[in-house]
This record gives sequence, structure tokens and C-alpha cells, in this order.
Amino acid sequence: MLLVHPPASRPCEPPPGLARLSGALTARGVAHEVIDANIEGPLHLAGSTCKRRDTWTVRAKKNLERNLSFLRSPEGCRTFDRYSRAVRDVERAVAAASGGGFRISLADMTQETLSPLRSTDLLLAAEHPDGNPFCEYFAPRLREAIARASGDVAGFSINYLGQAFTAFAMMGFLRREFPRLRIVAGGGLITSWMSRIDLGARFSGLVNRFVAGPGEVAVLGLSGVEPDGETRHAAPAYDRFPLEDYVAPGLILAYATSTGCFWGRCRFCPERAEENAYTPVPLDLVKDQLRGLVSRHVPAVVHFTDNALPAAVLRHLSKEPPGAPWYGFARVTEELADPGFCRLLAASGCAMLKLGLESGSDRVLDAMQKGFDTALSLRVLKALRDAGVPVYAYLLFGTPYETEEDADRTLKFAAEHSDCISFLNLAVFNLPTKSPDADRLKTRQFYGGDLSLYLDFEHPGGWDRRRIKVFLDRRFRRHTAIAPILRRDPPIFTSNHAAFFGGRDGEAT
Ligand code: SF4
Repeated sequence: MLLVHPPASRPCEPPPGLARLSGALTARGVAHEVIDANIEGPLHLAGSTCKRRDTWTVRAKKNLERNLSFLRSPEGCRTFDRYSRAVRDVERAVAAASGGGFRISLADMTQETLSPLRSTDLLLAAEHPDGNPFCEYFAPRLREAIARASGDVAGFSINYLGQAFTAFAMMGFLRREFPRLRIVAGGGLITSWMSRIDLGARFSGLVNRFVAGPGEVAVLGLSGVEPDGETRHAAPAYDRFPLEDYVAPGLILAYATSTGCFWGRCRFCPERAEENAYTPVPLDLVKDQLRGLVSRHVPAVVHFTDNALPAAVLRHLSKEPPGAPWYGFARVTEELADPGFCRLLAASGCAMLKLGLESGSDRVLDAMQKGFDTALSLRVLKALRDAGVPVYAYLLFGTPYETEEDADRTLKFAAEHSDCISFLNLAVFNLPTKSPDADRLKTRQFYGGDLSLYLDFEHPGGWDRRRIKVFLDRRFRRHTAIAPILRRDPPIFTSNHAAFFGGRDGEAT
């Protein structure tokens, strides 16, 4: 079996989904190959010659190896300015391979006239793999891997829209060159699509099977091996990934203690709209697996990829530190407002917590069904600040429940408590097609494609995207208390690298 993670998404850590599949196959002794094309592909493009001769591109190409070694070393996060310059130069070296209407970056890939949200455009990408800028890399790589891999299955993990064109180009290439190969596709994006679209009907000549949700049972079944009781919670295996190559100041090891979300009630959230099941890994297994992974790979940081770390896991980490710095998403809860508990988390190596604060308006938080109010947000922020745990805060604007006055309250809240916020992510709300609010709003297609996951909607209070953009650009981002927080955000890699910086003007932890 061959497992592939296509480009392009931030190439800073081995992909957790594929590592879990590799873990399930390894546990049952199934031979398999793994290709993380998301790191191999961009590095190939960055290192290849290109026609662009402008000063910046020539410099970025010439200094590529030096910049990569710097970014991969602990020095990479010592000085924010030097780090930012190196990241932007590596980005430039990759982006120079853009062409044929494709725009490539370290974090994304788009196409001028085609949309990854139109199945006909994805079929076009599959029919013409030679037109994909990554083809020169993936054609020989896939040929060689298929020749070496046993079995007749190639599985693709597709999680982001930026991966879609190249994933389909790679699958189209394999279908053409190896017609008898069984092609399987899964991952977060496929799961979201499958919650509302019959993918099998659209891509029947190309993909033999689509898998929604965790794919461990499916890949074992495809290998002719009966899954057992441990298959669903097999430890991720990172041995087949090029751990030295990722662009990060040290190994970031991703680990999920659960899939889905234990809260699952926020009205705006795709997890709720798609009705994804919450499945925690039993805590004893979490302890064993974490211990094993940390001692085997000695990561610079453990990235918990849970939608929200369950309270039991946070308590466990506070008592038994994993042996490496760690970060992840947590919910705003009473427990996190306890200064003593936050001090224990800090002592356990908590290098950053990501918090979905969403709004500074209690009316909005209530309507969102977030399950907390601004008073609790503030107590949590202060307890984490006092314990020395940097916070990456997520704010959401433009939900149907928000007015401009509410957005003002959010600005006031963030500005007044900016000393508690190390990093900020500002998002404008997209309405999931299956949102509980979709029926009561006037909606229209947002991206104009049959694979679109979101709807545009007429805001009941006229607080539309144009007005929100003006508010964010002219008032929010320019606020003297907010602007320094936004400047601190690591370029391109944002929250994936933020834990390496202390959250105070770019100093390393
Ligand atoms: S806590 Fe996060 S993942 Fe869970 S339902 Fe709310 S927004 Fe979604």
C-alpha cells in the first residue's frame, strides 16, 4: 500500500492523519510506503531552476539551503526579524515555480481560472497532470514508489483546499499509468465533502473509494487484514516520514487524543454541522502512546491536534508532563480560570494554548452556544498570563448574531486585555451549508461550485462582509494595542510556529 499526503499546506510537521494510518498498518505488520509530497514537492520546486531573474528570486534560490538550515535549527526562532526574512525567502523560492495559471506558496495552491470547489475543474486537473507545476516531481516519485510498494492500493489524504489540485493531478497520473491500481481518498476535506455530496458519483472513473472520518479500519480492510479492537486507537507512526526535512526550528510531533469535539455545540462550527462523532482515545492509551512517541522522537514540541483538548487530558498533562513542550486548542472553562491549575500546565511544558474566544460580546457568545461568557474568558486569560502560558486567541466576526456594536465590544475586550493575548487570529464567518442557521437566513452560493462547503448569506442586521472588512482593516488591525500582537504572528506558518516564540515581541521560549 502507498499512502500519499499531497501539497500544498504548511510543510512544518509530518501529517497526523497519515501517521495514524501508518501506525494502524505497522501495528498489524502490513507493508506500506509513505510519501509526504507536501514537504518533498515544495523542496523540489524551491531547489529547481526557474526563469525568474528578479533580484529577490535569485537571492532566495541562492540562499535556499542556508535559509532552510537556519529555519530547521533552534536558532531559527531566536530572532523574529531574521526568521521572518528566511521564511519569506523560502516562500519566494517555492512561489517562483508558479505557472500555467497555478499560484504556489508554502501554505497553499490556487489556480487563476479553475476552482477546487468545482468537480469538473478537479477532473480537469486529473486529466492533465502534466499541467500541474508539481508534475516534474511527482511523476518519477510515484512511479518509483509504486514499483517498490506491495499491494495495489494508493491512498490519498486530502485535508485542505490547497491540496486538491495536486491530489487530483496525482490520482489522474496514477489512473493513467497504473489502470489496475485501486485509488482511495480520505482526510478532513473529503470527510466534509462526503457529509453533503455524493463524491462517488462525481469521480467514479478516477477514485475507487472515498473514506469519511478516521481511515484506519478502511486501510486495513483494503489490505485484506481484519481490523482488531486496537485498530481505531493505534499509535501514530512517524518512522516513514522525513523528520529532518520539515521547515520548523525543531521536530513538531502531532498527536490527537480525540477526534470530533466533546463540546460540539457551537452553532457556527462545521464539527456540529457535519455531525462528526466525538471519539476520545482512552486516557491510559494516551499516556502510553505519548510516552513512547516522545522518547522515540524527542520532539521540540508536541502539537495536540484535538479540536479541543478534553479536561481529563489537560489534568493528566498537568500531573504527568509529556517530557516535551506542548500546545493545542482548549476550551474556555472554569478549570482554566484556576491560577494553580494554569501554573501546573505551565510547569508541564505548556508552550501555548489556542483559545476560541470568538467574541467580546456576551449576547453573541450566548447565541453561538459557546458555553462561556466574557467574564470567564477574562479570568482564563489572566490566569494563563500570570502562569506564563502564551495564548493564541481566535476571534470570529460576522456571525448572524453579531452587530457592529458587538464587534466594537470585541475590539474593546481584546484591546483592554491585550497584555493577556500573545497572538491573534481574526476570521470572518462563513455559513456551513448544513448549519442550523441556514434555513432561517437568505442564502446564496458563496464560491460558486458544486463542492462548496459554505453559503454566503444576507446578514439580518446588514453587518456584511464588506463592512466587516472595513472595520477590521481600518479600526481593529490599526488599534495601538492590537497592531503589535498581529505583527508578532509568524509569517506563513502562524500558529504552527507560534509556540516556538515566547509571545512577547518574537522572543524564543
Ligand atoms: S469547541 Fe470548537 S470544535 Fe468544538 S464545537 Fe465549538 S468551535 Fe467547534
